Amino acid sequence: MSIELKNVTYTYSPGTAYESHALKDVSLVIPDGQFIGIIGHTGSGKSTLIQHLNALVQPTSGQVLYNGEDVWAEKYDRKQLRSEVGLVFQYPEYQLFEETVYKDIAFGPRNMELGEEEIDRRVREAASFVGVDEELFESSPLELSGGQKRRIAIAGVIAMRPEVLILDEPTAGLDPAGCEQILENICDYREKTGATVLIVSHNMDDVARLSERIIVFDHGKIAMDGTPEEIFSQPERLISMGLTVPHSTAVAMELRRLGLELPE
Ligand code: ADP
Ligand code: MG
Repeated sequence: MSIELKNVTYTYSPGTAYESHALKDVSLVIPDGQFIGIIGHTGSGKSTLIQHLNALVQPTSGQVLYNGEDVWAEKYDRKQLRSEVGLVFQYPEYQLFEETVYKDIAFGPRNMELGEEEIDRRVREAASFVGVDEELFESSPLELSGGQKRRIAIAGVIAMRPEVLILDEPTAGLDPAGCEQILENICDYREKTGATVLIVSHNMDDVARLSERIIVFDHGKIAMDGTPEEIFSQPERLISMGLTVPHSTAVAMELRRLGLELPE
């Protein structure tokens, strides 16, 4: 399993006053099983990028390959792709729309045309993954807290058992305990299934701690791509792109500034 982007360019509203070059000639290989953090200033193209990975948007030019196949080829099964590459949008709780929690989590598997028993198994499994109690199954998602809603939205994607799980700022707006739980759920899912995980995040401490690889976006291009050690050993570069650095890096920078000699 791998995803490859070849020279992908994406322009919103081409030829109008609202034209915006969100991705510029982006090439990228995502091998099976990697845990990747995606960082970058607001407007750098992160959300646009991840919507290319499950063919929600079509590149203006360039190619997206899943397991070597062009996902925009005429007969390519993009519906199947969207169950294998699961995407959790930013603030996914705004997209809960079924009348019960159960139906909401079941929406993805039902779309996959699985049998009722299999759907039920997956809903229960996904709910337990994210710590949503079965007592809530008949509640309206709208009655629940922000953190619970977020977990239900994530369960809806996990219930498809995607091989690639992509989350756009999954902890945005949650309290520290809520953040920690969601990150733990994501790590558990990866450990149990071996899934590839991509997380877009503004939290440098989380990204540094969880990712094996970090991709930095800047103005629609990949500015940096490497291990957390490689990326955070260049704090000045990150700061020049409007980013922050993990607390440990910030402390080390300050100590060096005060004259202390520290190893990388
Ligand atoms: P990020 O997720 O890193 O904040 P986005 O991918 O959302 O970045 O946006 C990249 C660029 O595309 C920005 O300049 C943004 O203003 C523009 N953009 C995003 N969505 C739209 C849209 N629906 N219509 C027009 N421009 C958009
Ligand atoms: Mg975004």
